[in-house]
Amino acid sequence: MLATGDEAMQSLQKFVRAQKIDAAGLTAIGAFERAVIGYFDWDKKDYKRIPVDEQVEVLSLIGDVAEADGKPALHIHAVLGKSDGSVVGGHLLEGHVRPTLEVILTQPPAHLRKKKDPETGLALIALDRS
Ligand code: ZN
Repeated sequence: MLATGDEAMQSLQKFVRAQKIDAAGLTAIGAFERAVIGYFDWDKKDYKRIPVDEQVEVLSLIGDVAEADGKPALHIHAVLGKSDGSVVGGHLLEGHVRPTLEVILTQPPAHLRKKKDPETGLALIALDRS
């Protein structure tokens, strides 16, 4: 569980590296004081940054931990609810927790582990058929 002042990506990255978790599924709910979400620009192969500068509910946060370049890497998508009930969502780049973020990590069976795909630079599920 993360608390006010924690930045979700940094805190979770630190946690999975410390615990040596290189494959896991992740879900969370809670709230952010502000966040930055990304939209993957296919041509640039990079994320367009979309700042969300208001208190939002973390309605749904789903992601995974995969190994990339020998280290555990996080990939998280977020659906964020605004005060008027509208939602914004995208690839989570920054989430500044206030007051809490309840995170559940689930470790999957080995055959669903992800590997970084050299073409897209994204971590994709690599079904090992050997
Ligand atoms: Zn993404």
